[in-house]
Amino acid sequence: MADLLSPKSPFKEEVQQYLEESGIKETTDEILGPFSDITNQVAEALWNALLPGSPFSSLSWELLTFTFICAAGFWFFRKGRGSKDASGKERPAKSLLQYLFPKDIYTHQSARVDIGLYLLDRGMFPIWFLLSMGAVAPFFERNTIAGVEAMFGASPAVEPTIMWRLFYGLVSILIVDAIFYWTHYMMHKTQIGWALHKVHHSAQVLTPWTRPREHFIVGPLWALGPAIGLAISGGIFAWVFNGNITQITIVNVGIFSVLYALNGNFRHYHVSFRYPRWLELWLQSPGMHHTHHSYLEKHWDSNLGLVTSIWDRMMGTIYIADKYEETPWGLAERDQAEYTTLKDNLVTPIREIVRILRGRPKVHPQLESPELAPGKTPDLTV
Ligand SMILES: [Zn+2]
Ligand SMILES: [Zn+2]
Repeated sequence: MADLLSPKSPFKEEVQQYLEESGIKETTDEILGPFSDITNQVAEALWNALLPGSPFSSLSWELLTFTFICAAGFWFFRKGRGSKDASGKERPAKSLLQYLFPKDIYTHQSARVDIGLYLLDRGMFPIWFLLSMGAVAPFFERNTIAGVEAMFGASPAVEPTIMWRLFYGLVSILIVDAIFYWTHYMMHKTQIGWALHKVHHSAQVLTPWTRPREHFIVGPLWALGPAIGLAISGGIFAWVFNGNITQITIVNVGIFSVLYALNGNFRHYHVSFRYPRWLELWLQSPGMHHTHHSYLEKHWDSNLGLVTSIWDRMMGTIYIADKYEETPWGLAERDQAEYTTLKDNLVTPIREIVRILRGRPKVHPQLESPELAPGKTPDLTV
């Protein structure tokens, strides 16, 4: 097993640099245990893909420009159709500028709150990232390798061909997809989860900055699951290929993550980007997320998936909307009033959680389904 772990990680240097720049004092040697090269790669790829500044961070100027160019293409080929206004209805076609950057959306209070929450999230991101990828993931990976070795002996050292490398990339993204779905499902179906996740759903207009719109204490919940899943699969792959397998990458990011990132901004953008129905039954189109953000009852808790539609189909949460169906964004009226300003979005969830823990929750209409009636509430700790 010692062969599979490399004490020095290229990623470690970036973390150390970040810690120096941000003034956080802990030494990374204590946090970052020995990684296998595989966890190094996963950690590095995630770091590169998520941290603003990398070309595949959804908010990098490269990907934003790419998003707006694609949207300009839609404007041209659809003759101005497919752009929604602040009420989620299709807007009449006007100029290209209005199609791409409509005033009612970008001057909306919700868009300003997006930016405030984004800046907070940016500050918190490295901390929970370090905890999950630096401490939790290596622990699970080491134990997985040890467990597999105990059961099957030394690594068979299979030769990693291109097909194996593609397979490894595919497995990784499917693991993230599955864990994302179930984390998201719990965010919607538990009281504490929903109190926190309402911050994301209180967005009344969708902009690319709505993606990181979350309460900052939710970061670890989204990060831990994928970190553990990828560490366990990384451990298994490390054992099979004797630590020698790498994903096929573009600028250090796994090829499937790159493919996914290319249209990812359209999940939170007022221009609809849909796939044909047959394909949406298998893959989440970015436009399916418009329905997810709608406060109309028929759209509640729909399309919880990230990459595939498999889990949504299995759980009956899939909703394939009509081509230009209206999707008014935000929360049901009473909730929206409590989750409007930046301060609301930071304070209300905490207040609500305290109320829930004291056994006096306010029941939200989205939790009033029979299986979630009082007394049948599932475990509240997400
Ligand atoms: Zn959601
Ligand atoms: Zn969203």
